[in-house]
Amino acid sequence: MSILVVGSVALDRIETPFGVAENALGGAATYFAAAASLFHPVQLVGVIGDDFPEDRLAFLSERGVDLGGLERAKGPSFFWSGRYHYDLNTRDTLETRLGVFADFKPKIPPQFRDSEWVFLANIDPELQLEVLEQVEAPRFVACDTMNYWIEGKRDALLQLLPRLDALLVNDSEARELSGEYNLFQAARWIREKGPRIVVIKKGEHGALLFTRDSAFFAPGFPLEEVFDPTGAGDSFAGGFMGWLGYVGAVNEEELRRAMIYGSATGSLVCERFGMERLVDVEVDEVHERVRAFRRLTAFDHPVQALHG
Ligand code: AMP
Repeated sequence: MSILVVGSVALDRIETPFGVAENALGGAATYFAAAASLFHPVQLVGVIGDDFPEDRLAFLSERGVDLGGLERAKGPSFFWSGRYHYDLNTRDTLETRLGVFADFKPKIPPQFRDSEWVFLANIDPELQLEVLEQVEAPRFVACDTMNYWIEGKRDALLQLLPRLDALLVNDSEARELSGEYNLFQAARWIREKGPRIVVIKKGEHGALLFTRDSAFFAPGFPLEEVFDPTGAGDSFAGGFMGWLGYVGAVNEEELRRAMIYGSATGSLVCERFGMERLVDVEVDEVHERVRAFRRLTAFDHPVQALHG
């Protein structure tokens, strides 16, 4: 059963200390779909304008992404432009032009409505609620959001939380949503509002998983060359959900593996500008990165040797 994703499909302009990419293929749903489809079939719902070079999405179809829910509307596509600081951890949004995304009302095609796995990428929480109204009986619903909605649409977001199995946010969003500085407290606050699983992403410093029973930490993969972190969060979510869809199970063990697959996929994206790395990446490269994670973090515990 496929993974349904609803969110932005965009044209980006990205500035990093290493250069500028104009008209880069972007959007949260695009990154998610490119990453998740390495593991499991994906159905995408979004909107593009009449200026969008559709052939740029061909690699998604070839990889098993069903674009049957991608609307084409009259007007300009969603455009986002950002500039990264020297450390690549912080970025300024220079411009967001909603274009056809301003009037986007997600319509889930009938053939997508029985989806078991749903990822609500970062859009207005009122629209995220509307998506859930159209899906028949989802087994696992995960969601992303951002400060803009936490500040502007808090009530809708609080209404959405009980409908979620998992919320994936970054550390500043978790703090702003909960009003708690400590991430354990923030995750507890969020879990009490509904989602039984909370993933808090910390950029290159990894991500934390909180469930009823435990906390788990997935490091960010240390890269020798980082060009552009755009889309790393959405690709993390894609690797995470893709893995869960592939194994068809949500339990403590698979959630931990999903965290590592999310981190591995998110790190690959940073090696080139925009989506370039995801276009022809092979799933074996992700598996190899997961093996590299083990080598990087495995160690023998001397206590047993010393004390029996
Ligand atoms: P990330 O780096 O994971 O936050 O993802 C960046 C991607 O999200 C870019 O490709 C943008 O096109 C897209 N994006 C940026 N701002 C928004 C927004 N307000 N709503 C939806 N998508 C956005």
